[in-house]
Amino acid sequence: MSISNLAKSIQASPTLGLNDKAKELRSRGEPVINLGVGEPKNHAPMSAIMASTTKLNSGQMKYVPTSGLPSLKKAIIRYTEENYGRLVSPENVIVSTGAKQSLFNIILSVANPKDEVILLTPYWVTYPEIIKLARAIPVIVDLKGSTFHPRLEDIEKAVSSKTSAIIVNSPNNPSGVVYSEEFIAELVDFCEKKEIYLITDDIYHKLVFDGVQAVPALRYTKKDIENTRVITVNGVSKIYGLTGYRIGWAISNKRMVEVMSNIQVQTTSCASAVSQAGAEGALTGSQTIVENLRLNIQNNREVIMNELSTFSDINVIKPDGTFYVLPDFSAYNKNSLELSSFLLEKALVVCVPGVSFGMEGFLRISFSGSIKGLIEGVERMKWALDSNSPAEIYIGDRKLVRNW
Ligand code: PLP
Repeated sequence: MSISNLAKSIQASPTLGLNDKAKELRSRGEPVINLGVGEPKNHAPMSAIMASTTKLNSGQMKYVPTSGLPSLKKAIIRYTEENYGRLVSPENVIVSTGAKQSLFNIILSVANPKDEVILLTPYWVTYPEIIKLARAIPVIVDLKGSTFHPRLEDIEKAVSSKTSAIIVNSPNNPSGVVYSEEFIAELVDFCEKKEIYLITDDIYHKLVFDGVQAVPALRYTKKDIENTRVITVNGVSKIYGLTGYRIGWAISNKRMVEVMSNIQVQTTSCASAVSQAGAEGALTGSQTIVENLRLNIQNNREVIMNELSTFSDINVIKPDGTFYVLPDFSAYNKNSLELSSFLLEKALVVCVPGVSFGMEGFLRISFSGSIKGLIEGVERMKWALDSNSPAEIYIGDRKLVRNW
């Protein structure tokens, strides 16, 4: 069997192997704690459930317009006006099967083969793979050793005549860092002058803590929506905890939305009608669910930071948003894949290796789960790694002794 070079160049999901191993351990009754998850544990908003149910009960399960149901687009337009201060038209909006498909559509629309697309470390694992699938080249701006806050000068050095776009994600998965207003404003200005697309992935934009604001790039362009280089991505996956609906969207100029629709019609035709109805329900229903989720996650962040502070040898930057934290564990093992396998095997804890985000020596820990899981998970990690912690621990009803 021959497999294409392109397919062979695509990385497996970093969590896949660990999740399979975790599932196998769980099926054997082992009390695994998963700190690798990328979704909140909340119940779906009632307004979303009701809207999906109404759609299902209508019995009208047909294709819908490729770029999205008009009524969902209307809700997205209102959302964009409220959160970005921009009034856009339905022709500026395309709804897709998750923000992931929005990003695919964008990269396929802006990058020719061999064009360069700039990413900043730490980056979401999927970005380089999308760029490679478009036969373009990911160019990584390495922010290692920094506070995860990018500087324009680092980006300027990475720009070449082949650069077609820059992707930024703030609040950032996996670091939880929120980029400063000054940086976003400068970057918008820079991209517009250089005629480079600035793709902003705002999927976590309301999951921010202590009054910090994630400033949307679209707010900083002086150009109108038809002329700006800013392309905005958002969706319902994270802020409403509706990851399974698979609804995301992009906001761009009419021509770009048209070409993205041409790509989408040849791939998925349209996003699921039931999910689109549900997403509209989420956007137009009570928004207290978002604030409650944010407060819960902020509280979880306090818990995880408290737990991590008792580790002897890690460096950690307090996240201002998302539900991830990215501590530097290189004092224990510089190879993050080895380290996460070790933690799963010895402590039955799943963490995502930093190497997948361009951050070797780091581990991504998700604090979207239960407080009990967070406390016990970090306690087990400390037991496995930190010789200053007690040598004995109970995992489930088994007493284990550290003998390494
Ligand atoms: N962008 C970032 C930064 C993410 O972390 C994720 C999911 O983990 C996505 C996009 C994908 O969102 P969706 O589930 O809507 O495809």
